[in-house]
Amino acid sequence: MTRVLVTGGAGYIGSHACKALALAGYDPVVVDNLSLGHADAVKWGPLEVGDIRNSAFLNKVITHYKPEAVMHFAASSTVGESVADPAKYYSNNVVGSLTLLEAVRQNEIETFILSSTCATYGVPTCLPILENAPRNPISPYGATKLAVEHALADYGTAYGLKWAAMRYFNAAGADLDGELGERHEPETHVIPLAIQAALSHRPIFNVLGRDYPTPDGSAVRDYVHVADIADAHVRAIDYLKAGGESSAFNLGTGIGTSVIEILEAVQRCTGRKLDIRFQPRRPGDPASLYAAATKAAELLGWHPQHRGIDTIVGSAVSWFRHNLAA
Ligand code: UDP
Repeated sequence: MTRVLVTGGAGYIGSHACKALALAGYDPVVVDNLSLGHADAVKWGPLEVGDIRNSAFLNKVITHYKPEAVMHFAASSTVGESVADPAKYYSNNVVGSLTLLEAVRQNEIETFILSSTCATYGVPTCLPILENAPRNPISPYGATKLAVEHALADYGTAYGLKWAAMRYFNAAGADLDGELGERHEPETHVIPLAIQAALSHRPIFNVLGRDYPTPDGSAVRDYVHVADIADAHVRAIDYLKAGGESSAFNLGTGIGTSVIEILEAVQRCTGRKLDIRFQPRRPGDPASLYAAATKAAELLGWHPQHRGIDTIVGSAVSWFRHNLAA
């Protein structure tokens, strides 16, 4: 079996990727410092607890398990926090990724899949967003991910590393078998926040901005089921192993959903009514982001299977119903 080192494999997307890897016949080995991840989300292979900025630790793990590929999810990923504390983002995301890339180079691992983001584009100049759109991030989070993408491209040219940068739009939902879900502390994402509010005794939800140039005035995003995102990563490994050219891929559905539409779905899926309040915009939030994901379809054969906002929100509701402390 091909071993894959999965950094951040105890986190939301990384843990779903481990399940997808295992189902595809790969052998995931997780490295996670558990600062945000959960040890009980690591179910498909060993967990090595440590920090990717520690090269001695990385070399020890790589020497022991001899992975043939790396999927790199370990990162800080909240836009607002990155504005308030950029040092944390440059350290975790840039120093961490460069330390990992050096360990990959020294140990002659050929294949590297990066968890990247549509935040590398900044405010889009046209929609839907194509992979070759200008990349002008407006947050330190987006800037750090773009810096790592540049490093990957340069490592590819100079050292022959095969890489894929997966630029997610909004990862959402939960494992359809109920084995994994989204647990961020603190939570800032619209779907888990709205579900938690709906299932609570105080179902208040704050919509951040009602004056965007969108059909209902709330911000529009492209929500993709996390299992589909995980599937795309496995496909990227297969593609590179088959000789595919290193590249960046948008992971989106091409369909925009507004915050108000998300809240309607949460109310439908929970059967509870939300007390919706309107607040000012969140700094750094573009009005609309949705992807042109034709490249992932053409080169990876990737077609999101869990489409439709009720499917995505419904899977998250089901996970929360089983896992929320009463
Ligand atoms: N949002 C909101 N209320 C909240 C949290 C988020 O209205 O309590 C909005 C946010 O302003 C954005 C959308 O929901 O327009 C998606 O935000 P999220 O943080 O889930 O993902 P992002 O697009 O920022 O990665």
